[in-house]
Amino acid sequence: MSAAPLFSTAAPVHHVAERITAARSVLILSHVNPDADTLGSALALGLALDARGTSVEVAFDEPAVPESLAALPGQHLVTRDPSRTADLVVCVDVASSGRLGGLVDILETARDSIVIDHHASNLGFGRLNWIDPHAEATVVMIAALLDELGCPLTTEIATDLYAGLATDTVNFRFASPAGHRLAARLLEAGVVADEVLRPISDTHPFGWLTMLGTVLTAAVLDPAGARGLGQVVVRIPLETAAGLRREELDAVIDIVRTSAEAEVAVVAKQTDDDVWQVSLRSHGALDVAEVAVRCGGGGHPRAAGYTFVGSGAALTAQLDSAWNVPLT
Ligand code: 5GP
Ligand code: MN
Repeated sequence: MSAAPLFSTAAPVHHVAERITAARSVLILSHVNPDADTLGSALALGLALDARGTSVEVAFDEPAVPESLAALPGQHLVTRDPSRTADLVVCVDVASSGRLGGLVDILETARDSIVIDHHASNLGFGRLNWIDPHAEATVVMIAALLDELGCPLTTEIATDLYAGLATDTVNFRFASPAGHRLAARLLEAGVVADEVLRPISDTHPFGWLTMLGTVLTAAVLDPAGARGLGQVVVRIPLETAAGLRREELDAVIDIVRTSAEAEVAVVAKQTDDDVWQVSLRSHGALDVAEVAVRCGGGGHPRAAGYTFVGSGAALTAQLDSAWNVPLT
C-alpha cells in the first residue's frame, strides 16, 4: 500500500469557495508564457471577485500580456508589481510552482494559498489544493467555483472562460458533454465565439508563413522514434524566430502534429544559447506527460512540455533515451 499523501489534492469546491469568501484581498497568479486557460481563469475569477467588492490583482512573470490575449476582459486587474500582502494567493492552471517563474517567492511568503488546476502531474504546492485532472480546462473548474460562490456569468466573465475552454479542448474536440453544456451557457451569456478566438488562434503576421517554410523544411521524421510509433521533430533556432511573437512559435506544433506517420510531435523553441522550450503532443496512444516529467517538465497525456539546457543534438538524444525507459 502506498503512503498517505501529505496533503490532499482534491479539496472540494465549497472549501475553496469558503476560503475565497473569507479573504478581503486576493492575488491570482497565472503561469509564465500565459495561455488562454490560465489567463482566462485568472481574469474570470478576478472580475467575479472584483464585482463582489474583494480587492483583486492578477499577475504572472512576463513583461506584458501576450498580444493575442490582450482583448480578454479584465485587463485592468493585471499588474506587474503585485501586492505581497494579499490575504490569499490563488494559482490557476499552474502545474508546478516552478511555472510561476520569478513570482514563486510570493507564494512562499503568502498568508494563505490555493492551487486550482487540472494537470494530473500537479503534486499540489498550495495550502489548499483543488486539482481535477478530469477537468478539460482550468476554466471549467473556475466556472464551477463561480456557481458555488453565486457569481453571475456576465458576458465579460463568460468570454474569459470561453477562451480557455475552446483552446484547451482544441476547439472542443476533447470537451466532455459537460464542457459542451458549459460552452452553451457561455454563448447564452453573450460570447461571440469568432471574435474571441480569432486573435487567439487564427491570426499571425505574414512572417509566420516564411518561418514555417524554413523550419518545416528541416523537420525530421523518425519512424522508429517514440517507442516505434513515430516521432517528428522540428527545431526553431533563435535566428529563425527573430522578430516573431511567442504566439507564432507556439502555433507551429499544431501544424507539426498533423503528420500521419508520427504518434508524437516535438517542437523545440530556442529561447537562449543552449536553452530550448520543448512542446510535445501525442495522438493519444502514448503519454507525453510521462516523458516530459522525466525531462524535468510536465503537462497532460496529449500535450506536455519542458525546458532543455544543451545543444539541439543533445536534446534529441535525451528525448530518445526518455522514451526508451520503460513507462509506468
Ligand atoms: P505547451 O507545449 O503548449 O507550451 O505546453 C503544453 C502543456 O505542457 C501545458 O499544459 C503546459 O502547462 C505544460 N508544460 C509546458 N512546459 C512545461 C514545463 O516546463 N513544465 C511543466 N511542469 N509543464 C509544462
Ligand atoms: Mn490548462
